Amino acid sequence: MRAGVLSGGKVLVRDDVEEPEPGPGQVLVQVEACGICGSDLHFAAHGAEMLALGRRMEGVQRGGGEVDLTRDVYMGHEFAARVLEPGPGTEAPPTGTLVTAFPVLPRADGSGLDAIVYSNTIRAGYGERMVLAAPLLLEVPNGLPAHHAALTEPMAVGLHAVNRSGISTAERAVVVGCGPVGLAVIAALAVRGVRTIVAADYSPARRALAARLGAAEVVDPREETVWSRAGASTPLVVFEAVGVPGVLDDIMRCATAQSRVVVVGVCMGADTVHPYFGISKELSVQFVLGYTPDEFAASLRSIAEGEIDVAPLVTARVGLDRLPWAFEALSDPEEHCKIVVEP
Ligand SMILES: [Zn+2]
Repeated sequence: MRAGVLSGGKVLVRDDVEEPEPGPGQVLVQVEACGICGSDLHFAAHGAEMLALGRRMEGVQRGGGEVDLTRDVYMGHEFAARVLEPGPGTEAPPTGTLVTAFPVLPRADGSGLDAIVYSNTIRAGYGERMVLAAPLLLEVPNGLPAHHAALTEPMAVGLHAVNRSGISTAERAVVVGCGPVGLAVIAALAVRGVRTIVAADYSPARRALAARLGAAEVVDPREETVWSRAGASTPLVVFEAVGVPGVLDDIMRCATAQSRVVVVGVCMGADTVHPYFGISKELSVQFVLGYTPDEFAASLRSIAEGEIDVAPLVTARVGLDRLPWAFEALSDPEEHCKIVVEP
């Protein structure tokens, strides 16, 4: 089958990728749509450093084999797909049913779960077919098209950050950075009923999307700080959705005393913060990642019920042959937000 792979730091499309075979408890699906995630761009460019950081990290469960960057790597975790055929002895929705799924696959030997994210063996969303765990399949309701259902995963990231923040509807939210992660945070804040959402981004296109998804006020940091607009009277809940060195320190320097800072942007480099800012103002800083299965399902529901309109986020739909082009194109924040590949 055809599938996009990361090979020697380059994204390319192969015609001769081995077909995935559904085992017991698994279902073979035909990928209809898969969104390109910023983390995939980052892994393509800095995979070796990411793996090295992972090796240094303690206090986490490690399972499965490590990704070998000298071999083909399969990627694509923001997918919607149609059921083709269940594995042996497995129950599945009827053939042709449009589904999405929390992107993990239980190992055949029962030793744990593998994430469907970067793998030398597990086929993922940038390919014609993949296997999913039958118990994790979620049927896409309300005739939602595949290229919108594929945004379940990135929107769940925002929902998780908002849930972790514990923000009440009376509190004021500041969202720094309006890429796909910041926009997902804004959408989840709006669904939760938070009225004051002030968002900042240098890109006019991203500011326009932030307003459409529910930001009450949008700020161009070149003209005005988000802090002057949000006001300095009471504590804020600030979402850092940029993930670039220096941003967290600047937020800590500027945020109102007693504010809570939720770090959802993924900064892979080392970064410097001045604890003095945090101490002086008794700031709380919290790091968040991913989502729970319940949040994933709630995200699909919000999109399908029309609570979140993801249509404006999809700035291009392309065939698999244009996957390498899409990885290039996403480096320009003005041009694209979410590019969806339709294999
Ligand atoms: Zn992602």
